[in-house]
Amino acid sequence: MNIYIFVDMEGISGVSGSEFVTAAGKLYQTGRQYYTQDVNVCARACFDAGASAVIARDGHGGGNHMLWDQLDPRIELVQGPTGAVRMAGLEECDALILLGYHAMAGTPGALLEHSYSSKAVQNMWLNGRPVGEIGIDAAIAGDYGVPTIMVSGDNYACAEAENWIPGVVPCVVKTGLGCQAARLLPMEKAHQLIRQQTTAAVAQLGTIEPLVVDRPATVRREMVERLPVPSARPGVTIVDGRTYEVSGDTVERAFFATV
Ligand SMILES: [Zn+2]
Repeated sequence: MNIYIFVDMEGISGVSGSEFVTAAGKLYQTGRQYYTQDVNVCARACFDAGASAVIARDGHGGGNHMLWDQLDPRIELVQGPTGAVRMAGLEECDALILLGYHAMAGTPGALLEHSYSSKAVQNMWLNGRPVGEIGIDAAIAGDYGVPTIMVSGDNYACAEAENWIPGVVPCVVKTGLGCQAARLLPMEKAHQLIRQQTTAAVAQLGTIEPLVVDRPATVRREMVERLPVPSARPGVTIVDGRTYEVSGDTVERAFFATV
């Protein structure tokens, strides 16, 4: 049994604002420590539950924030941009965990809510349904027949996950109190919860279905005000002055065609 852990930074336990997740932030080095610790806790629970391999994807902007020398020595790490492949190595895995995720752009009260780019994207839809990174990434895993078994983050991210992925195991490590504020579980409790929910999720592997959406899959993007939509090209439908969409035979192809 191989497990893929896609790690984002905003929903990591202990992270409560953008100072932790941007390289210029005063708390960025602390954020990197927390990021690496959550992955270690999650991966160790996977190994204890019988996983033979764990691949972690350093998934926060640019993909180069993880402290490689502090990772559990059994974890293989994927870093850097991988083109139009969202999760390199996922095809070798039996399940996906989305660790440290955040709610979609515009979710009231959610910590660091956005959808892929807070500078560029106002809203996204998948097959007409409002979506953020949790829904898209779980559906990309669905392209590969891989179920998303656990999602960690704030209460809003976990509610969004349960809305998109029937049976997914939520792991609420903090309560969102606005875009730049959160009420954090104590570190030991947060780590215990990640361990407990990872163990529960791996035990349920086989009962949680991959998220497979209707084909063709259509990804729609509304850009933030004053950012232009792409110029018309084959396959791209311009919806209005700020919105465009692309369809594809997989979610991954449709998604990357909108980037
Ligand atoms: Zn991120």
